[in-house]
Amino acid sequence: MNIKKLPEHPRLMLTKQRINSLKTYLQNDQEFQKEFEKFHNQCEKIMKEPISIRELDGDKRKRMLRTSRDVLRKIMFLGTYDNVKSTPEYQERVIAEMLSAADFVDWHEQHFLDTAEMTAALALGYDWYYDVLTEAQKNKISSAIIEKGLQKSNAKSNDWWIKGDNNWNQVCHCGMVLGALAVFEDDPTLANQMIDRAEKYIHTGLESYAPDGIYKEGATYWGYGTSFTVLMTACLDSALGQDWNIIDYEGFKESFDFVFHTSMLPSKRAFSFADSGGSSQSLPQLMWLGSKTADKRYCQMSEYSQKYLGSYPRMYPISIIYYEPCKMSELNIPLTWHGKGEVELSMARTSWDNSAIFIGIKAGRTEGISHGHMDIGSFVFDMQGEQWATDLGSEKEIYDSTMGGVWATHQESTRWNFFRVNSLSHNTLSIGGALQRVAGVNPIIEVTDDPNNMSTTIDMAPTYIGQAESIIRKIAIIDKQYIVIEDKYKGIATNQNLTWNMATQAKIELKDNNKKATLSIGEKKIYAEIVSPVEASFSIASAKPKTSVENQNKGYLMLQAEIQAPVKDGALKIVFKEK
Ligand SMILES: [Zn+2]
Repeated sequence: MNIKKLPEHPRLMLTKQRINSLKTYLQNDQEFQKEFEKFHNQCEKIMKEPISIRELDGDKRKRMLRTSRDVLRKIMFLGTYDNVKSTPEYQERVIAEMLSAADFVDWHEQHFLDTAEMTAALALGYDWYYDVLTEAQKNKISSAIIEKGLQKSNAKSNDWWIKGDNNWNQVCHCGMVLGALAVFEDDPTLANQMIDRAEKYIHTGLESYAPDGIYKEGATYWGYGTSFTVLMTACLDSALGQDWNIIDYEGFKESFDFVFHTSMLPSKRAFSFADSGGSSQSLPQLMWLGSKTADKRYCQMSEYSQKYLGSYPRMYPISIIYYEPCKMSELNIPLTWHGKGEVELSMARTSWDNSAIFIGIKAGRTEGISHGHMDIGSFVFDMQGEQWATDLGSEKEIYDSTMGGVWATHQESTRWNFFRVNSLSHNTLSIGGALQRVAGVNPIIEVTDDPNNMSTTIDMAPTYIGQAESIIRKIAIIDKQYIVIEDKYKGIATNQNLTWNMATQAKIELKDNNKKATLSIGEKKIYAEIVSPVEASFSIASAKPKTSVENQNKGYLMLQAEIQAPVKDGALKIVFKEK
């Protein structure tokens, strides 16, 4: 781009114009006033925390990420609040956090996310407080951004993410671009290089939303990658007046719908496929998209997520900075969502109330998907505000592992030694206790959106190559009242049992010759029944992995249905009812 000059500070999101609009909302808009009061409470909590110091986490693979995230959170919260409603002690605190971080011996560039988040944090603080920092403070912070942040990204050992196709690409380019925009005048050549590089290679991360918006690494990493892309886009907009048309990338806007459906479950848990966390996440990024596209639906979704969950992630201030009044009324969002791509998903729910029935299922491919699990056909469902079928989520031990190849996804990868990521812990089928095959593509072949018959059908034959001729799984919510899960199977290898699995936090009681099961969570109960075939019966298995270093899945059991070999061609049909 060869930028010669940038507008005056503050130029990163909180421009004078933006601050003035927020001040007006604070005077005139009751919704904003209420939210701003809650925002204030969060800031007061931050003021009770100590100033961040450089701390490394992780037993084997060290990271400084928690420290970087804390500094980013504190600067975003306190800096945003203070810029709208002057609070001198918040300003003082932001400056103190920046000076402390600038003094760190380094920003741990060996794990570059740590460096990127810290660079973003100080870039925002430096820009927002440029007019009040002393010359000595400016020099110190700017030098740290350049020497501990930007320059380190040019070292060969730290730069694999530049052309990466996952969240690292989004987070690290964002950090470097924010740093470059903040300290532009101190080293225009380096700053231009950072900005040009991001413009050239950001597409490799953004192409992962195509075609329909499913983020292959799961909802948690969507939140991570996308919030930094939002941050970068917002800062490009405010500093350069252009943003490389990032929102026009195929699937990018649609991904906000994808994540809303996977994150706003009636149980306040998530559809936690891939390396995801189990809880719902509030989605402040939606407010920015609403503001950017003038589509109030996204502002409404952002408000819904905030009111529904009341949580305050470090990117929450984005929903304050880009606040738009939306007048909450009934949520105008469809009850079903499905998408194609390398990962395919389908979700359906009976309403947006927390008593709704929800079911979601995963299809597509396993091999080659970063942070992916061996989970073709795996489903999650909620009833009565509880989650009854759960994807156990990520395995922390993988992140700490020094064993080679745990991030590879081919059939023989050591990744599949871990229970939480292999198919035996997922809510799907296994034949003779074998793992699923990772190479094939398993498409969603039919979806019906009829409110009385919301169904999804998946062809899972590629996953069971060599184990079965054909397996077709269909899940459905019928008459808005009950769930049916049906597996049609043909040509199961002789001498192999067919096992249906479901991880649940419920207590399980088996009845009627193990054809029925009552599941209970506290006082709430649901009822499972095997409708066919006669040979199938329920059993209960442990959700414990083979090793003690893995997550022990405390509080979980496996509800299983088994058909003993030889398995004749047929259909295993299981129904879950509330009464
Ligand atoms: Zn999983």
